[in-house]
Amino acid sequence: MKEPTLGNPQNTIAVLQKYNFVFQKKFGQNFLIDTHVLDKIIRAAEITKDDFVLEIGPGIGTMTQYLACAAGKVAAVEIDRALIPILEDTLDGYENVTIINNDILKVDIAKLAEEENGGKPIKVVANLPYYITTPIIMGLFEKHVPLKSITVMVQKEVADRMQTGPGSKDYGALSLAVQYYAEPYIVANVPPNCFMPRPKVGSAVIRLERYEEPPVNVLDEKLMFRIIRASFNQRRKTLANGLKNSAELDFTKEEIETAIECLGKSTSVRGEALTLEEFAKLSDELSEIREKQKKSQNIQR
Ligand code: SAM
Repeated sequence: MKEPTLGNPQNTIAVLQKYNFVFQKKFGQNFLIDTHVLDKIIRAAEITKDDFVLEIGPGIGTMTQYLACAAGKVAAVEIDRALIPILEDTLDGYENVTIINNDILKVDIAKLAEEENGGKPIKVVANLPYYITTPIIMGLFEKHVPLKSITVMVQKEVADRMQTGPGSKDYGALSLAVQYYAEPYIVANVPPNCFMPRPKVGSAVIRLERYEEPPVNVLDEKLMFRIIRASFNQRRKTLANGLKNSAELDFTKEEIETAIECLGKSTSVRGEALTLEEFAKLSDELSEIREKQKKSQNIQR
């Protein structure tokens, strides 16, 4: 297989000029032009020839060349039609790469993993388009795509949100969702000058190692996530008020306060003080309250 040729500013500019490529801001196009960062991402993802890798947004194929050399197979999904002839050129000779021209949010990734990797867990590696980081990552987890790990470049602030715990201003629904499904680890911070054009924000590479089993047990996963969303929707309110005002939940003030007290917390506690374990427990308390209520209604009938 050919050695990667892209990844430095000169060769990237040469490709862009050859095709008169115009950057599309709406697609979050900031191409990597630093070989050290590319090496770091590939190392952090621990790719071997046994791996099937999904790359989201290959751009002109810079990281794709590195991935093709390390992995068994690569599928690269790119939304911008103008990049497809460029990718066909830069990836010529990399036989294990399939280019898919589509919006990643419309691709059935579980089906792709089934067809291309026999349903075995895949690795996702990408320099993500920042405007859709959360839907991409949550989609991978919630749609139960078979995953080993996700190693991605994201906005620094988003990486911090994924990794942090209670008590931090960055702690929120994204932290809890990510930490329910995976163990996050920030690999490196990456400054704007490693990209072309330079983004206005700092970036970081984060690796999310998928848990085989979630770290907490919960009776009703969907209810727990509704509770988590409601708790952080109104950050300034107490947890009890956040849950009471949520359109997604229908518990009374008394039921909510009873469940919060079962955690050994004051009813004036805020959602941002609760750990994932405590959210799971709160959800189970509320599930049980609802179950008891249903039973007593059935007896009365
Ligand atoms: N991987 C390349 C690199 O590192 O140089 C490009 C990364 S750039 C930050 C993000 C890429 O995602 C762009 O190529 C952009 O066109 C593509 N993209 C944006 N939205 C997308 C979507 N919804 N589906 C697939 N690709 C998308």
